[in-house]
Amino acid sequence: MSRILHRSLHQTPPMAVGGQGICLRDSQGKTYIDASGGAAVSSLGHGHPDVIAAMHAQIDRCAYAHTAFFTTEVAEQLADRLVARAPAGIGAVYLVSGGSEAMETALKLARQYFVEGGEDQRSLFIARRQSYHGNTLGALAVGGNEWRRKPFAPLLMDVPRVAPCYEYRDRLEGQTTAQYTAMLLDELEATILLAGPERVIGFCAEPVVGATGGAIPPTPDYFRGVRALCDKYGILFIADEVMCGMGRTGTMFAIEQDGVAPDLIAVAKGLGAGYAPIGAVLANGAIIERLRSGSGTFLHGHTYIGHPVAAAAALAVQDVIERDDLLVQVQKRGATLRRMLGDVFASHPHVGDIRGRGLFLALELVRDRATREPFAPELKLHAAIKAKAMECGLMVYPMGGTIDGRRGDHVLLAPPFIVSAAQ
Ligand code: PLP
Repeated sequence: MSRILHRSLHQTPPMAVGGQGICLRDSQGKTYIDASGGAAVSSLGHGHPDVIAAMHAQIDRCAYAHTAFFTTEVAEQLADRLVARAPAGIGAVYLVSGGSEAMETALKLARQYFVEGGEDQRSLFIARRQSYHGNTLGALAVGGNEWRRKPFAPLLMDVPRVAPCYEYRDRLEGQTTAQYTAMLLDELEATILLAGPERVIGFCAEPVVGATGGAIPPTPDYFRGVRALCDKYGILFIADEVMCGMGRTGTMFAIEQDGVAPDLIAVAKGLGAGYAPIGAVLANGAIIERLRSGSGTFLHGHTYIGHPVAAAAALAVQDVIERDDLLVQVQKRGATLRRMLGDVFASHPHVGDIRGRGLFLALELVRDRATREPFAPELKLHAAIKAKAMECGLMVYPMGGTIDGRRGDHVLLAPPFIVSAAQ
């Protein structure tokens, strides 16, 4: 019996012993096609020589230097690179070790921004019902996954929640997309007003919903409307791009395609592409200037922030994406994969929707295509799909209707950007 507390306490997963390109290999010699990049992590596939070489070089140079004492060239370079590529207004980067930490950091940075502006009364975040922002207490509190939240509910801050932007399920009959979008924005505005705009810190959302919905893109003007409401009431827009960011949707940041700039952006997964645990929060320059001219410090910090080897991995990932023009590749391969999924599944009786952006695609599974009725959650269809796929040597990322039982199972696909058309 393994001494590791694995995700399932009943099962020890296969042991990964090697990885090359889009494949992983286990200790029994079986090969798996990584069609989900783990959980949308491995954007360059496995064993990428350039990333490994950059990490080796950094370990030889300086494996660790505590950020209370030093900065490192590689962390500075990574921050410069991220700011240069970020949406308008982003002025600084805080480097952490993963997605939950990135969201925790964003929440605290947002709160401190208002405290330093003399607005201590701002203590509320508004978020969406269908969302996942991480498993630490702050991130879990803003997340909308009831199944994950339930046992810890007494430990979590109260978060008013609004509907996600999920046109396939929630647009009413006879409603146009524009009317549906307006309905969602009306609900958000009503929620801000009910809470009292002067009490609200920020609105958190994933630009393209990942784990809790399966690559759900927003309607065309949704985030423009969100930005306008945040501006109207002086609250911050926090974009969680932990899963959908860093090129996964065909642009470096998913929100670029919505034509708006968030105040804070959390990224992780694809940032280190699995080569190192690293996440980051990108912050609007005005937020940082207020702290700089105020207390002069961000009241936060972890031992491994700005880790040089993780930064070297992330910087190398950025280099490869640029050098090999991989964003264009994501757009092309994404279009191909989507077309192929359509060819195979568009008339499948249990595939209700095929959606996504770039190489971030999903199938939503339904019992009945006409009524969009989901399969019963007790069936645990997603678990069966994952097991069957693994048996066949294929990694996909299925999730069940964990939101309110009404949402269906989906299968998320997020293959490495280096995937070939044949693969
Ligand atoms: N935010 C989003 C959108 C995610 O998908 C995830 C992880 O799946 C997280 C935050 C948490 O990231 P991590 O698992 O690296 O802590």
